[in-house]
Amino acid sequence: MARQYHPDVNKAEDAETKFKEVKEAYDVLSDDGKRATYDQYGHVDPNQGFGGGGQGDFNGFGDIFDMFFGGGGGRRDPNAPQRGNDLQYTMTIEFKEAVFGKETEITIPRTESCDTCHGSGAKAGTKPETCSVCKGSGQQEVVQNTPFGRMVNRRACSNCSGTGKIIKEKCGTCHGAGKVKRQRKLNVRIPAGVDDGAQIRLSGEGESGLRGGPSGDLYIVIRVKSHEFFEREGDDIYCEVPLTFAQAALGDEIEIPTLTEKVKLKIPAGTQTGTYFRLKGKGVPRLRGYGQGDQHVKVTVVTPTNLTDEQKDLLRQLAGVSGGQTQEHHESIFDKMKKAFRGD
Ligand SMILES: [Zn+2]
Ligand SMILES: [Zn+2]
Repeated sequence: MARQYHPDVNKAEDAETKFKEVKEAYDVLSDDGKRATYDQYGHVDPNQGFGGGGQGDFNGFGDIFDMFFGGGGGRRDPNAPQRGNDLQYTMTIEFKEAVFGKETEITIPRTESCDTCHGSGAKAGTKPETCSVCKGSGQQEVVQNTPFGRMVNRRACSNCSGTGKIIKEKCGTCHGAGKVKRQRKLNVRIPAGVDDGAQIRLSGEGESGLRGGPSGDLYIVIRVKSHEFFEREGDDIYCEVPLTFAQAALGDEIEIPTLTEKVKLKIPAGTQTGTYFRLKGKGVPRLRGYGQGDQHVKVTVVTPTNLTDEQKDLLRQLAGVSGGQTQEHHESIFDKMKKAFRGD
């Protein structure tokens, strides 16, 4: 709900109010003392301060986000293994690369465990020591006396920043962090038939885990560039080719470019503009399973412009003699148009 109502995301007028309510609910539920109070007395005003100032003004959203989504201050064991973050990489590829697949090398910046100290953050030959303040738990208990009785607040240990460990001599490579930023080269195989928006998961290629935790995953999001001539819908390819009036009327055999080669397509005499022809199996290979989609060819009859006088004469003759013959064929269209004019 915090995500849903976060004012950066949700522009609704009441989003901020709702977000504050969510935050309050979270505060109450995550704090045993407040929860008990809430159960007893109901609403606790988050801006009023509670129990002598544990709760300051409501300022900023970032810190609350950290709280909700594991940025710290929680109660998890600071020594427990932690899974590395997932990473996302957007890759833009050419239209035909998506159709036929591609092998490529990418470079991704990611956080990896420091080789020098094996992730401990301590200088070679030394070890992190257990924090003497929190005895390694990473948490400090702060006892407060409130009108409702003694209240125990837990917070991240200030001595060790919640890690439970103190590093006296830091590793020179990672300066105590235990991890380093690195540019990692990876070979990626894009399968044939991949479409725009597809995601490829490379398991374990995300950021390194901490304290022996597993690495996160890398997600490659595919963006496919459009093509001048071909359009794609799923596994099918669409294209549009022009026909002259003579080709459409008399029929012809024309060459059509497909993804792989040129093929011949027979245009029957009397082909209407907008007719689709199907080239079976000339589409995109199916990503899952066998076979390929089809290529659909739409023919568009192009009306001639800049006719010579001779051509114009011939056309006039054609119109004169063809009236009776072509009328029959077009009757239905003309009838439909007449009806439309009448408002039917
Ligand atoms: Zn190191
Ligand atoms: Zn500590």
